[in-house]
Amino acid sequence: MKPEIFFLAYDDSYILYAPLRKFIAVVNRDTRDAVIKRLHNQPLHEIEQSVVTVLEKRGVFDEGFAYPKVDETFAPTRVTLFPSDRCNLRCRYCYASAEDGGHKLPMPAARAAIDLIARNAKEKGFKQFSMGFHGNGEPFTAFDVVQECCEYMSETAEREGLKYTISAATNGVMPEDRLDYMVAWITDVNVSSDILPDVQNRQRPLAGGRGSFEQVDHTLKRLDKAGVQYGIRATITSESVYRLREMAAFVKENYPKCKLLHMEPVFEVGRALANRQSAPEPRVFVREFLKAQEELAGTSIRLVYSGERSNTYCQCFCSVCSNGYTVTAEGNVTSCYEVCTFQDVRAGRFIYGRFNAETARFDFDRTVMDGLLTLQVKNIPFCRDCFCKWHCGGDCAAKLLGNRTPDEHAGSDRCVINRALTYRQVLQKAGVDVSKIEPVFI
Ligand code: SF4
Ligand code: SF4
Ligand code: SF4
Repeated sequence: MKPEIFFLAYDDSYILYAPLRKFIAVVNRDTRDAVIKRLHNQPLHEIEQSVVTVLEKRGVFDEGFAYPKVDETFAPTRVTLFPSDRCNLRCRYCYASAEDGGHKLPMPAARAAIDLIARNAKEKGFKQFSMGFHGNGEPFTAFDVVQECCEYMSETAEREGLKYTISAATNGVMPEDRLDYMVAWITDVNVSSDILPDVQNRQRPLAGGRGSFEQVDHTLKRLDKAGVQYGIRATITSESVYRLREMAAFVKENYPKCKLLHMEPVFEVGRALANRQSAPEPRVFVREFLKAQEELAGTSIRLVYSGERSNTYCQCFCSVCSNGYTVTAEGNVTSCYEVCTFQDVRAGRFIYGRFNAETARFDFDRTVMDGLLTLQVKNIPFCRDCFCKWHCGGDCAAKLLGNRTPDEHAGSDRCVINRALTYRQVLQKAGVDVSKIEPVFI
């Protein structure tokens, strides 16, 4: 396999970046030319050869390395459960257009899912397995299901001699008894919130139309005080993008123990389309994101965006291509949080199983699972020459590909953001002080 070496313009030099060798260096034009000659087996003069020899010794040209691997055998040790497709909010950009729903996760399906991951954990010799709550609705609207699942998880762990973690993604709007339960049982909570009172009230109203800020603020303060590990996920639109620094300052002041502040441009799907909620211009997002990062400097709150992850090496942006195991309120098994019902035109690509009430087991569709395995960045021609391919993994397959083949991947505005922010991380790793550097759009 040929080594992958990228040259990224930096000042009047270059960053030599060999991601799979984990090698980064600032080099001049002559070095770049020597490396290119070496890669094309062209003759080198003496000085070029000496530079190339140094790099050879560092393994930069080694061909015996492996691509990041995905587990091709289906054996998940984590399950995500969607207790309900009902929601008590009416977010203007909801990808699932969630409203009153009508489905509640049947407990036999939840128990079978937990049994399956416990069995896999035992077979793999793992000490731990994990469960998460998420949904195309608010998980805590089906509180009885949440409780039963947590209790079954705990019983199963005890029976099998395993440790466990339980995470939850929630909108944070719930009565006090549910909040008490969340504080007691959930190890890692991710609260979706647009943070600032006016933005939260406008973008994420309650089902009756009133604002939801006060309730979410109460939940966040409660988590903060209780010492629960939690993060906040804010959805950013073209309207709210100029307020990212303000959002960061608000979090710093009001929720100081927040571990992770996640800012993500809205995806123009579901209710976002109906309400004309548009994603921010990518360059504006990057600039405002960096201001928010500056605001949080020196705190323990980590600001993240999903496509900025130079420490991750992967074939796929998420677990969609392998071992993504989500059981929906309808009893479907999907690899993608977003494609969870057969009404979705992409169902045939992402929904790969269904709970069988008669056998109390899941029936899996091997053909769909094999199709999911093809969604790896190594199969995406569009990403071939992108320096952040092994970090980004071709980005969100549900939105960028849907039912199309990897050959048809054509990137998106998010590539601009992914590259600009990853480039800065690479510069930092090369020892460059990026605090005074304007963003570079590659
Ligand atoms: S809280 Fe989540 S599921 Fe509910 S309306 Fe908002 S985005 Fe949709
Ligand atoms: S494919 Fe996209 S929408 Fe689906 S789980 Fe992965 S990141 Fe989320
Ligand atoms: S081209 Fe876009 S989607 Fe592909 S790896 Fe690069 S940033 Fe990601």
